[in-house]
Amino acid sequence: MASKSFFAEVNTMFDRSAIYTKHSSGLLSQIKTCNSVYQMSFPLVRDDGTIDVIHAYRAEHSQHMQPTKGGIRYAPSVSADEVMALAALMSYKCAIVDVPYGGAKGGICIDRHHYSQSELERITRRYTFELAMKNFIGPGVDVPAPDYGTSSVEMSWIFDTYRSITDNPLDALACVTGKPVGGGGVRGRTEATGRGVFFGVREACSIEEDMHAIGLEKGVEGKRIIIQGLGNVGYHAALYLEEAGAVIVGIAEYDGGLYNPNGLRLADVVEHRKETNSILNFPGATNIKDSILTLEMECDILVPAALENQITSKNAHRIQAKIIAEASNGPTTSAADQALSERGTMIIPDVYLNAGGVTVSYFEWLRNLSHVRHGRISRRREAHNALRILETVQDLVGKKFDPKILSNIESSLVFGASEADLVDSGLEDTMVGAYHEIQQKSRSHNIDLRTGAFITAIDKIAMEYSRGGIFP
Ligand code: NAD
Repeated sequence: MASKSFFAEVNTMFDRSAIYTKHSSGLLSQIKTCNSVYQMSFPLVRDDGTIDVIHAYRAEHSQHMQPTKGGIRYAPSVSADEVMALAALMSYKCAIVDVPYGGAKGGICIDRHHYSQSELERITRRYTFELAMKNFIGPGVDVPAPDYGTSSVEMSWIFDTYRSITDNPLDALACVTGKPVGGGGVRGRTEATGRGVFFGVREACSIEEDMHAIGLEKGVEGKRIIIQGLGNVGYHAALYLEEAGAVIVGIAEYDGGLYNPNGLRLADVVEHRKETNSILNFPGATNIKDSILTLEMECDILVPAALENQITSKNAHRIQAKIIAEASNGPTTSAADQALSERGTMIIPDVYLNAGGVTVSYFEWLRNLSHVRHGRISRRREAHNALRILETVQDLVGKKFDPKILSNIESSLVFGASEADLVDSGLEDTMVGAYHEIQQKSRSHNIDLRTGAFITAIDKIAMEYSRGGIFP
């Protein structure tokens, strides 16, 4: 039997959840359809003078809110179907974490390792130009961000290209997020997705009843973790989980996996990769030749953080993890999802768990549009207010605080909450609040977290349509 396309997989999960809602079939069809896909091809003159034809895409899934928002990925797997699926996930993700965007996604079908830095720059700038020519980019239209195979470097090229051709240079910084700090970016964006994964996993593990139901103790501490993909998201998720006392026992990369039941120190593995260009042959660990088999090793939490279609009906029955924390997009097929859920595996779904990136991108976009650093205007005022409250408390209790204590409190209020602190607390608040919303939804319907998350998204998008008066 031919396997389903990625977009069909997302729609299967949508349909499974839509039956729990009361929306008309017409409205549900509008919510799940992908509104527009721009497919483009252009030539790249390579450093050696030969010509490559580059194929690229941008999908805008839904304009129920504008702008649309979603990453840009550079990978050989990129296709129209892949960007449509990822754009749809973005619409649902933004709704779940209450970030006011429709979903979009872009991609360039290349293996970035085959191109020099200057070739990548030319590809990125031409791609941006093509998007701009068709009105597929702009602060109020469609705002890209980093994804698999891209980083702040590509985002700064996108900004620079867009700025040079727009007739609205004042807001040009807000045409893309994930830019470097100092180049219009916000502190905390690079680590945001992995940090959000950590907050989501921590929240799931904090509910004693849910942990006991799957045979685990409450809390992250001591949990054995396997990570697939030690890139931006995987590395940062591993870092914060390790800091919270979890033990990384396995890591899978594109060229093989590592396993050590006694634990792998993340910093040492990263250092080893720097020296040898591979995670393999790490002292004390066993190499796993076929990388995908790493996912089947013993652990409590499996964190896929590479690409889609990694847990399928072929390997789902051999997964030993009690929790699958989907840091990547679409790692589990709908068939595997059903089999695992029936077996009692807890899946913390991608559509919620990796929303940290877009949440902090939203903070960056707001900062770019308001042309002021978060906290710049209000911080000193808030510090004065807090001091006034303390002075009132002094008067009420009839006792003076030590002036040193007051001055320490004042300086920590004025200088303490940096932009990074504000971004991090905004991210934590978002991920914690959204987890409890989807957890309660799934509990009230006695269904899995993914279905709960999709119902939440569908209801919120439907509400936007009715609020706009577009549909009755
Ligand atoms: P990345 O390019 O930084 O890292 C991906 C890592 O996966 C690399 O280290 C790569 O070598 C490794 N990898 C590739 N193929 C593999 C394989 N077959 N087995 C094991 N490892 C493999 O990408 P990223 O930004 O970390 O994105 C990872 C996933 O997270 C993607 O699904 C992406 O859509 C999703 N995501 C990313 C962000 C973000 O902010 N970057 C936000 C939301 C979701």
